[in-house]
Amino acid sequence: MGSDRLAERLRERGYRATPQRLAVGRAIRQLERHATADQVAEIVVRDMPGLALPTVYAALEVLEALGEVRRVATIGGTAYFETTDRPHHHTVCTRCGAIEDLKAEAGLEPVLEAARRVGFADIRAEVTVLGTCPRCQHGAR
Ligand SMILES: [Zn+2]
Ligand SMILES: [Zn+2]
Repeated sequence: MGSDRLAERLRERGYRATPQRLAVGRAIRQLERHATADQVAEIVVRDMPGLALPTVYAALEVLEALGEVRRVATIGGTAYFETTDRPHHHTVCTRCGAIEDLKAEAGLEPVLEAARRVGFADIRAEVTVLGTCPRCQHGAR
């Protein structure tokens, strides 16, 4: 999604389309994969020197509320974000924190249906598989 489209989405939902929010939206797209707020900030400060990390966090939260960005997982206090274009599942290593995309056809319709029954709207679901990655199993550190 281009910045114009994001600006439009922000305004539709009653948010101001600030340059910071648009820049964070662009940065997370540029990173493509699971990114921390620090990684997003690194890209954004190239265009906006002096932009503070809390501003990046705040912008990510707004984009998350909008459904443009989602929090994949929080590991050791670090939140990982990605865009919501391509829904997919994840594996998360509970030892080293590595996050990888997981290709699998999971039948989540019963889960979504249950969520609808308890009144949830705008729902989506992905599976996060927690475990020990091959590298950690083989003792490499
Ligand atoms: Zn691991
Ligand atoms: Zn992913």
